[in-house]
Amino acid sequence: MSKNNRGENTICTHTGEVKDTAFKGAVSPIYMASSYEFMDVDIKRYPRYFNTPNQDYLAKKIAALEHAESAMIFSSGMAAVSTTLLAFLSAGDHIVFQNDIYGGTRNLVEEQFKRYNIAYTFTEGLHVDDFRNCIQPNTKLIYIETPSNPLLKLVDIEAIGNLCKANGLLSVIDNTFATPIIQKPIDYGIDIVIHSATKYFGGHSDISAGAVATKKEHIDTIWNLAKNLGGNLSDFMVWMLERSMKTLAIRVKAQQKNAKKIAKRLNKNEAIGCVYYPGLKSHPDYKLAKKQMKGFGAMLSFDLADGLDAEQFLKSLQLIKPSMSLAGVESTMILPAMTSHALLTPEDRAAQGIKDGLIRFSVGLEEVDDLMDDIEQALSTVSKLSLVK
Ligand SMILES: *Cc1c(COP(=O)(O)O)cnc(C)c1O
Repeated sequence: MSKNNRGENTICTHTGEVKDTAFKGAVSPIYMASSYEFMDVDIKRYPRYFNTPNQDYLAKKIAALEHAESAMIFSSGMAAVSTTLLAFLSAGDHIVFQNDIYGGTRNLVEEQFKRYNIAYTFTEGLHVDDFRNCIQPNTKLIYIETPSNPLLKLVDIEAIGNLCKANGLLSVIDNTFATPIIQKPIDYGIDIVIHSATKYFGGHSDISAGAVATKKEHIDTIWNLAKNLGGNLSDFMVWMLERSMKTLAIRVKAQQKNAKKIAKRLNKNEAIGCVYYPGLKSHPDYKLAKKQMKGFGAMLSFDLADGLDAEQFLKSLQLIKPSMSLAGVESTMILPAMTSHALLTPEDRAAQGIKDGLIRFSVGLEEVDDLMDDIEQALSTVSKLSLVK
């Protein structure tokens, strides 16, 4: 079988292994050296050049999964986001952002870009026309994130790819929520794919990392800035990430299977208000999800029925953890109003459709029945509390 048409699970387990030629061990050795010989070598290796053996090889796995020519690994998702954006933008440029991007990315833009004289516009909505309306003569780049956080709205990836091509713009996507197992944006014409590898790539809530996958030519541009900024990941953590990524495809597929079953069951529960999941036929982007995603992902959100207290609900959970972050093998829930969207006023949140009781659910690998039992017992606890009030 050619290396280029390996199946996803084979890429996850094998692509980008560092061969242990010294001892023939079955897994990649970890090269912790921060000093490599410089004479008579093809590549001058150094951790901050992002080219130690472990970094170099794991990048091949990520590139293969994203159908990209090349990739780079960073110490966090935000290191990948900031380095990529700043590598392509200069003073006087303009960038169009989807309006509900990850909070950390929004903070980067709103807190830092003014100082660099980089202009930006957040779109009104998520339709391709909303993006087109924001393009200015100095626009360089369009940045999307689909499915979005926390309401799991979708952007038409192919339409954005085409819009960018027609206007000579670079297209960038944050593909963290979907992973390449569910959607491969480069196949739809997107130029650059970014990941917070802290999420599904790591998958066990114990790694902070990021990644970028794109054409070799763009990786060179990103690398030119990355070597100045730093932001490389330690080789031990690269090795941990490789270990995690061996199970990426099976984890994501099992988690999204759970999520679909749970979304359907929550949708029928009278103590639950609206359920936001692109795999429900009632979701406004269901058709688009079928077109651009293989499955519907393992993230969903829901409102409790009126009168039920979301904080009390989270405190009543016994199995599911009310925890920051997402995408671990363990199920976690979060209140966006208290975390990612805490800085907005309740009115601004409401304008974005985020009720103060909205709960975002990162569905893990546990048995669906156990997760539903936990949700139902917590619902019955808050229902009793609301009767007492
Ligand atoms: C977490 C996250 C990031 C940032 O990643 P870090 O590893 O926390 O720096 C970026 N985008 C999305 C969608 C995320 O969920």
